[in-house]
Amino acid sequence: MYRIQNAINGKLVSSSSDRETGVFNPATGEQIGQLPLSTDAEINEAVASAKQAQVAWGDAPPAKRARVMHRFLTLLNENIEDLAREISREQGKTHEDAIGEWTRGIEVVEFACSIPQMLKGEYSRNVGPAIDTYSARHPLGVVAGITPFNFPGMVPMWMYPMAIACGNAFVLKPSERDPSASMMAWELLRQAGLPDGILNIVHGDKSAVDCLLDHPDVKAVSFVGSTPIAQYVYERGTKAGKRVQALGGAKNHMIIMPDADMEQAANALMGAGYGAAGERCMAISVAVPVGEETADRLVAALKPKVEALKIGPSTDSAAEMGPVITKAHQEKVLDYINEGEKAGANLVVDGRGFSLQGYENGYFVGGTLFDNVTEDMSIYRDEIFGPVLSVVRKNTFAEAVDLIHGHEYANGTAIFTRDGDAARDFADRIEVGMVGINVPIPVPVAYHSFGGWKRSAFGAHGIYGPEAVHFYTRLKTVTARWPTGVKEGSVFAFPS
Ligand code: NAD
Repeated sequence: MYRIQNAINGKLVSSSSDRETGVFNPATGEQIGQLPLSTDAEINEAVASAKQAQVAWGDAPPAKRARVMHRFLTLLNENIEDLAREISREQGKTHEDAIGEWTRGIEVVEFACSIPQMLKGEYSRNVGPAIDTYSARHPLGVVAGITPFNFPGMVPMWMYPMAIACGNAFVLKPSERDPSASMMAWELLRQAGLPDGILNIVHGDKSAVDCLLDHPDVKAVSFVGSTPIAQYVYERGTKAGKRVQALGGAKNHMIIMPDADMEQAANALMGAGYGAAGERCMAISVAVPVGEETADRLVAALKPKVEALKIGPSTDSAAEMGPVITKAHQEKVLDYINEGEKAGANLVVDGRGFSLQGYENGYFVGGTLFDNVTEDMSIYRDEIFGPVLSVVRKNTFAEAVDLIHGHEYANGTAIFTRDGDAARDFADRIEVGMVGINVPIPVPVAYHSFGGWKRSAFGAHGIYGPEAVHFYTRLKTVTARWPTGVKEGSVFAFPS
């Protein structure tokens, strides 16, 4: 069994905390690691080392910082197979899915390599007699990131490559469930030549998060996780005077119009609903067919596919989906299936009782499909974060849009149709942050930015892409007069 260490000031250090938690292999239920819940003194040490290191890093030419990102990029690509295996071991997702996760993280590093271009300021000549104005983006100093279990490689990389490229130093508190992916990436960044103290990783729980939120030297916090914690982090962090972006949970709907290619729509729903065992903030968990006939055709297309889902550990290359993250989460998902059945939804495919020979203690849940789900049911209202897809039938496009607008979450959504009018109207009108048209999981590429609306995100900035440059920097505008020899007496009126 391995012991996870913190990474502070360029070194791996063992925590002296007497509080610890286990790291488990979700496919077997076996404890494989032990993780320290770091003390406030250790968090403070990480912030202090970041503060000291940031001064020179923030003054370094952006091209020099970009070169570290270039080398990091090469190392990530060379090591992607090992990195993916590490994610699968602690998180449970299939190898192919873990490769996809790193690939999306790597794309953010590719974008971070363009930082000299992104940090270019603005200049206006002769705004007055011999007066010029220029503005430039300065780093904030020390910034922190707090990340969830479901993307242990990619979500931290939504944050620290851009923050660091902008000239900040970063303190990361990864999920306590699957910490090793970030530790491997840290080691690669060290090999890429990142100075000591620019990326620090501290492990812990609420107490570590609170320490970062209250620390006066932490100037900004990026958070990704569930909505109640996102709201808490946003409120506590902003009260302490920090910039905070806090991305939360989701319940993503996909509308299927009567003219959609049903085979294409059903296949898309399989990947978006059951991929990663439904543990994606952009998973589709609600299918909204328009019209009874569309609904009947959709459910008929989905049923055999859900029944045929190949479920297994990441070491099985044929597996399409793995286990969920913990025993407690497995029980929670099973409880939701019980509740849905009790509430009167039609359980078309029942994932309860799924068991895999040799993996009886793994946290597996079979693919589950509900039909005739209604808005009052908990399986509709709550984010289940498991392989459970609900079909909510609506008679018209307008009713389907109203359904989406009635939900508290607004992270992603999609429409499947061949009707350009409907697609454009949907994209334009729907009050959701990320929209797919015949694309079930519309996670924006790294040179755009990611972010939901309503209770799926708190704070003004999206994550990664151009929004990250704004979030991780502050603007300074200088007005200068040359030559100084222009003769002028005292002016008491407002300068114009
Ligand atoms: P979580 O909210 O339980 O944990 C996220 C982080 O917050 C972890 O680092 C955890 O240690 C910390 N934390 C937990 N409880 C805390 C508390 N009381 N006070 C302070 N910090 C606390 O989320 P999770 O279960 O790890 O991840 C799943 C959730 O993340 C889902 O709701 C999913 O939708 C969401 N998510 C959202 C996005 C997005 O981009 N919007 C992306 C990925 C995951």
